[in-house]
Amino acid sequence: MIDEKQIRKIVESVVESVTTSPDGVPKRVTSAAVSPSITTAPSPAVTPSAGIRGDNGVFDRMEDAIAATKRAFFEYQKFSIRDRERLIGILRMVLRDHAEDFSRRVFEETGMGDYKDKILKHKNCAKNSPGTEDLVSRSWSGEKGVCLEEYAPYGVIGAITPSTHPTPTMINNMMIMLAGGNTVVFNAHPGAKKCTAYGLQICHRAVVAGGFPENLFTCVKNPTIETANVMFNHPDVPLLSITGGPGVVKAAMATNKKVIAAGPGNPPVLVDETADLDKAAADIIRGGSFDNNILCIAEKEIFVIESVFDKFMLAMERAGAFKLDEISFNLLTEKAFIPREDGGHVLNRELVGRSATYLADLVRVNVPEGTRLLIAVTDKDNIFVQEEQMMPIIPVVRVRDFQEGVKFSFEAERGYGHTAIIHSKDMNRITEFARVMNTSIVVANGYSTQGDGPDDGEAYMAFTIATPTGEGITSSRHFCRIRRLAIAGSLRFV
Ligand code: NAD
Repeated sequence: MIDEKQIRKIVESVVESVTTSPDGVPKRVTSAAVSPSITTAPSPAVTPSAGIRGDNGVFDRMEDAIAATKRAFFEYQKFSIRDRERLIGILRMVLRDHAEDFSRRVFEETGMGDYKDKILKHKNCAKNSPGTEDLVSRSWSGEKGVCLEEYAPYGVIGAITPSTHPTPTMINNMMIMLAGGNTVVFNAHPGAKKCTAYGLQICHRAVVAGGFPENLFTCVKNPTIETANVMFNHPDVPLLSITGGPGVVKAAMATNKKVIAAGPGNPPVLVDETADLDKAAADIIRGGSFDNNILCIAEKEIFVIESVFDKFMLAMERAGAFKLDEISFNLLTEKAFIPREDGGHVLNRELVGRSATYLADLVRVNVPEGTRLLIAVTDKDNIFVQEEQMMPIIPVVRVRDFQEGVKFSFEAERGYGHTAIIHSKDMNRITEFARVMNTSIVVANGYSTQGDGPDDGEAYMAFTIATPTGEGITSSRHFCRIRRLAIAGSLRFV
């Protein structure tokens, strides 16, 4: 059995051999760079793929990527669940060792978020993504025989990844989908195509060096809506995994395929008069400012019960949030939402993921160095309350009482069914809030990321939180078919 030391040696030798060209795209690694020790791996023999070869998993055409990933699927079926776990271990190691590298590339290419937070996000993903552990088979036995149910792969999964977390979503998806025995082809956001291809190639080299087939995961070099449509309509892709905003979720749902869709969120926070206001303030700043608020689960608007409203605002300022006055907030609103001809508006993508200091500068407000979050007092109909802003400015709304707070929170969540947060010491209220909100995640008395990942809270972590299709925080079994073997009249031996 190949151990972690050997795998690390292989990965290091492969990664060292990656020479980066001036455009940041790594060159193909030569076969000499692959350690001969892989021949000692007990895995089934790897037959070379026929057809068009990609460049370490990166293809020019979506059709070729799908064909190669399909061939890889059949090869992958020869590997045991233990092998899959070893593969996931390799991916964890790559992600951990490249946390800084991937974060820097994502930051440089997308211009969104906070570099240091991204490193943490990658490291947490390496550690806390689920593996094969929830593929637990079920069995029943009785006088009529035995029934066994197992989790089986679908085949080639077509995955769409967002610009907000391109590499962690891709590698988290790889771990979860490959744990289930599938292979996966990615269509990244065009604005994150270089870091996605780079990350995929690093993972590809490491996995192949670890004795696994080529093209277990692939992507296209230049992802577009057209390449996504090829994937959406391809007969060899039985399952789509969509992580993105409302447009792509709608487009994928219009296909005839099974879809696991992780759509947008607009998580409200309700603070009641029983809450520990200083803790609530610290939690909201921590969750709402992380990676400049680009997480779909991050705090996006706050409703506070009138009797503690002023005290809460002071607690927020004490904890480091900067309060914008009405004029500056209105100015920022004009810059953040561009009016459309039909009277609506569209989010200004230029401001998504920018820092609090950048946003304050934009409206000519001086904020103390290190300010991570801006807040502003407004009413429930304000556009920042109703839209998913993905930038570190959070509106705060006064509510008459708990019931009004729940009602406004429900309306602001807009039926996405994503995430909602409450700060309260009253268990009955927490229960009622969770029941009414009907979201995939409810966090009580904590910050948003405590709902997704054991470094902050309990349970595993996923970057694809399937809200409209209901799987919630996805794990391996969601990407598997359940198959039953019924043995009539035998095998019951007691
Ligand atoms: P986006 O919707 O602009 O793009 C997401 C992906 O969909 C990209 O790869 C993009 O190229 C593709 N895409 C967009 N429209 C498409 C279409 N019509 N056909 C095919 N592909 C299409 O979103 P983004 O800015 O990259 O990411 C942020 C959004 O994603 C936010 O709304 C956020 O809430 C959501 N998100 C949700 C989750 C979750 O787990 N629920 C996780 C991350 C991000």
